[in-house]
Amino acid sequence: MGVDQHKADIIANREEAEPAAEDSSFPLRVPPHFASLIDPDDPDDPLMLQVLPSAAERLPGGVRDPVGDRTAIVGQGVIQKYAGRILLIASGACAIHCRYCFRRHFPYAAELASRDGWQAALRATNADTTLREVILSGGDPLMLSVRRLRELSQRLGSHIHRLRIHSRIPTVEPGRVGEDLLEWIAELHQTCVVVLHVNHARELGGSTEVLQQLRQAGALLLNQAVLLRGVNDRADALEELSEALIANGILPYYLHMLDPVEGASHFDVGERRARELMHVLRSRLSGYLVPRLVRESAGAPYKLPVL
Ligand SMILES: *Cc1c(COP(=O)(O)O)cnc(C)c1O
Ligand code: SF4
Repeated sequence: MGVDQHKADIIANREEAEPAAEDSSFPLRVPPHFASLIDPDDPDDPLMLQVLPSAAERLPGGVRDPVGDRTAIVGQGVIQKYAGRILLIASGACAIHCRYCFRRHFPYAAELASRDGWQAALRATNADTTLREVILSGGDPLMLSVRRLRELSQRLGSHIHRLRIHSRIPTVEPGRVGEDLLEWIAELHQTCVVVLHVNHARELGGSTEVLQQLRQAGALLLNQAVLLRGVNDRADALEELSEALIANGILPYYLHMLDPVEGASHFDVGERRARELMHVLRSRLSGYLVPRLVRESAGAPYKLPVL
């Protein structure tokens, strides 16, 4: 705990050194576990860069709703863009604030699916029998109590075969994954898919046990990463990430091109460079360890492959 506190202090002090960079609606937030994985001696540490507010966030460029979330809202906190699956903004809170987050300007206060006992979410989900999957997103859905999660899962219609959870918590704050959460997953009627969000191999240090518990509870583990300048835009870094993921029983799923959200343009990696990296990855790795490089485009029927 002492070491974690020390590193958290270092981050806090750096933050103070650059107070004008602070976006008060999206302040610095780093759980102690993630802070403990940061190398405080490296000013370009790839974990630090994900969480440290920077003056570059005020650079022009980008939009507040880069992926058309707001026009795809079909009920309070309910977003539907694609066939067969519906996404719920389950929680407005996160354990960590990722500076490149595409929902950093999302109006969480007005759009929360969990707030009224999931009424709008259950109405939308249970009325549409073409749906097969409910995706819990946010914010981070694992910020909710297990009681709230169970309230939803027990009332989903039998046409919903899969419950997918998008969460960074198992790797950034593994201590939050408690016995009650594991029990809930184990008792689910739906197939449980947990999509983690790990951008760099070192983020997996210290989560091995929790990830194993999630698998033992019956969850299928996938990972989505964002291609980020300075964090993982080297072939070696992406290769190490895939190797570290599979060593923890996680399959690489998506590698997202950065969404052009206001305040994050300094993380952008161009498509040409992204394609080059994918070529190297394909030349080095087993096919199932190569994530799908995609770009989200508002109005498109699926996340578009970048080939
Ligand atoms: C990304 C996303 C999904 C999931 O898409 P998959 O390609 O199935 O992973 C579903 N709904 C919304 C609104 C999304 O943004
Ligand atoms: S955990 Fe996810 S939703 Fe929360 S800030 Fe990070 S990327 Fe955004």
